[in-house]
Amino acid sequence: MSLLEQYVTEAYDKPIRDCSEQELYNVLIELIKDQSQEIPNNQTKKKLYYFSAEFLIGKLLSNNLLNLGIYDQVNDELIAQGKNLMDIEQAEFEPSLGNGGLGRLAACFVDSIASLGINGDGIGLNYHFGLFKQHFVDNQQTSLPDPWLEGKNWLVKSRRRYTVPFNKFSLESTLYEIDVIGYKQETKNRLRLFDLDSVTPDIIEDGINFDKTNIKENLTLFLYPDDSDHAGELLRIYQQYFMVSNGAQLIIDEAKDKGSNLHDLADYAVIQINDTHPAFVIPEMIRLLGLEGIEFDEAIQIVQSMTAFTNHTILAEALEKWPLADLEEVVPQLVPIIKNLDARMKAKYPKRPDVAIIDENKRVHMANIAIHFGYSVNGVAALHTEILKKSELKAFYEIYPEKFNNKTNGITFRRWIMDANKELADYLDQLIGIEWRESHNLEALLEHKDDEAVIEKLRAIKFNNKVRLNKRLKAMQGIEFKEESIIDVQIKRFHEYKRQQMLALYVIYKYLDIKKGHIPATPITIIFGGKAAPAYTIAQDVIHLIINLSEIIDNDADVNEHLKVIMVENYNVTSAQYLIPAADISEQISLASKEASGTGNMKFMLNGALTIGTEDGANVEIHELVGDENIYIFGKDSDEIIEIYANDAYDASVYYNQAEIKPLVDFIISDEMLAVGNEERLNRLFNELVSKDYFMTLIDLVEFIETKEKMYADYEDHDAWTKKALVNIAKAGYFSSDRTISDYNRDIWHLETHHVAMDQ
Ligand SMILES: *Cc1c(COP(=O)(O)O)cnc(C)c1O
Repeated sequence: MSLLEQYVTEAYDKPIRDCSEQELYNVLIELIKDQSQEIPNNQTKKKLYYFSAEFLIGKLLSNNLLNLGIYDQVNDELIAQGKNLMDIEQAEFEPSLGNGGLGRLAACFVDSIASLGINGDGIGLNYHFGLFKQHFVDNQQTSLPDPWLEGKNWLVKSRRRYTVPFNKFSLESTLYEIDVIGYKQETKNRLRLFDLDSVTPDIIEDGINFDKTNIKENLTLFLYPDDSDHAGELLRIYQQYFMVSNGAQLIIDEAKDKGSNLHDLADYAVIQINDTHPAFVIPEMIRLLGLEGIEFDEAIQIVQSMTAFTNHTILAEALEKWPLADLEEVVPQLVPIIKNLDARMKAKYPKRPDVAIIDENKRVHMANIAIHFGYSVNGVAALHTEILKKSELKAFYEIYPEKFNNKTNGITFRRWIMDANKELADYLDQLIGIEWRESHNLEALLEHKDDEAVIEKLRAIKFNNKVRLNKRLKAMQGIEFKEESIIDVQIKRFHEYKRQQMLALYVIYKYLDIKKGHIPATPITIIFGGKAAPAYTIAQDVIHLIINLSEIIDNDADVNEHLKVIMVENYNVTSAQYLIPAADISEQISLASKEASGTGNMKFMLNGALTIGTEDGANVEIHELVGDENIYIFGKDSDEIIEIYANDAYDASVYYNQAEIKPLVDFIISDEMLAVGNEERLNRLFNELVSKDYFMTLIDLVEFIETKEKMYADYEDHDAWTKKALVNIAKAGYFSSDRTISDYNRDIWHLETHHVAMDQ
């Protein structure tokens, strides 16, 4: 009997072929958990603690089988019994522990850290209902709780508990852990998610509303509750402190267990803080070391020598600043420490209010704590790091040039090609050998650029992925597209700077153009996906516009044979794994200087989609790697945009009044649109675009339309197009998160690696 049969017999006392997908999922999760229990934790002396408020890990069944090196074996056995892993994985709920790119990056990182044999755990929170689930009603986004913990999941309850003190009460935490199994590794790491037993869904009212003041019952209920009101803001501080206090206590305990006297804590631990959300770990660790008898000055030195900070954004509103009064209310024990740190910096830089920790409005700047009292500050793409040094964090760069470094983001190839696009991965094995699965170097593919059979096969794989996506969309939303169409995709969080509204204006352009009789040679399917923050009204208005457009086009017999617009509901990691392998075009059209890196752009590249993009974030590096002829770059560059902001020189109405643009924007409030949509939302969006348009949608619109037309025309030469796709795949190796993590380790963490692949 095979291991799987043993487990199935034990649990259900029947053969595999008689089990439901749900039953097989229940068995497999136990089997994998047991197997991974057998793998010892990485025990090297010094350990990385990757603190992040989000870990958007996606489903783990296939990923864990792949990393254990038993995916094919298990799948073959299932197939022989009329089952398969892809169907079985439908039974898994996706853990809803992140918003978007930042959380997904943390997930790729823990996978790479384990796969490189580095000792490093993720530290975060176990949100019971995670990020909201997006559901469309009346062409608008509504938010529902996402009960991802129902059914079997990967969490293992640990016996470790800590007490976290707040102003008026203390809370005792529970720790849940998810094993992070590296690719064919002899040791494993863990994702360690702190939680509270007293949290309860009973306080959820309608949708995702709940009593924000009831901390004992709500602390880990949802990810990032809306902080547009004061109670939401306080809850976020409660969450952040709960995460870092637990994490810091854990670090001290584990170091002591290994023999640390805490004076040498930095020999045992290094902390990477993922954006500002965990920055309270600095004052908290200083406080805890004080309780352990370490002098204040020494505690500062210890913490400073072991803490590194990653900045993820230059959007001012995303750099957290908490009112000191809020900290007095929630965590008064941190206030004297933060005031002390602030006083030191004010004494040292008396003429530099821009580097103060507490500003003149008594707000605490989280990033400033992390920069002064950590030893490394990194941006997440080359351009982003340069902008930080040159403008956003210029004052700090002048003081601490040695702290600044770039770590261009990456994606784990295990999930984003080996798991998401198995057919392509297997074909690459045939063509260039299996070494790429460890090295992530795909350049050998370039030798096959002029091989017609290869080009044809790549096209066939793309087509099969379209068929697979179509099946899923039909099952999830009852939507079908033409499988012979060109698939053009923009999937990411909805934000004005990402400019989904610009692609929506292109849809309007194309719709009106087809109405005039200009029929595209190949049918076009444009797919959007993404959530908008519940408090972000304009972003919700853009979603509304897109769903209205898809309704108008579907109901127009002149157009619906040639153009289709789809708004995917509840975009998440699982849907990304279907959408990206099927895409021909990757939309990366943010206003230059605003997208720190992007990682969606890398996933598309790896799966052979061609990018249409601005010179922003990691698009710049993609452009350098593939060359002008294999990417479609358009629009103003970041220097130009920064200059326009500096001179306050953008006037939306000037662009709106251009003959090419006006009819497109006016369509938003046309009779046709108002017949299907909500007048208030549409008027608001229209007014925003013509009068304010802070993220300059209209500035690049004409060039965007021209570039898209060129791209669709180029698609008609299928071989030339697929050659470009091949170059993109071949050059994607740089964007492996194994490379990113090796860079972090070489420049920042300095940990031992045990990259010994086990024999198969
Ligand atoms: C990769 C990914 C993102 C980030 O996408 P960007 O285009 O880089 O913003 C967001 N959400 C999910 C589910 C992802 O997989």
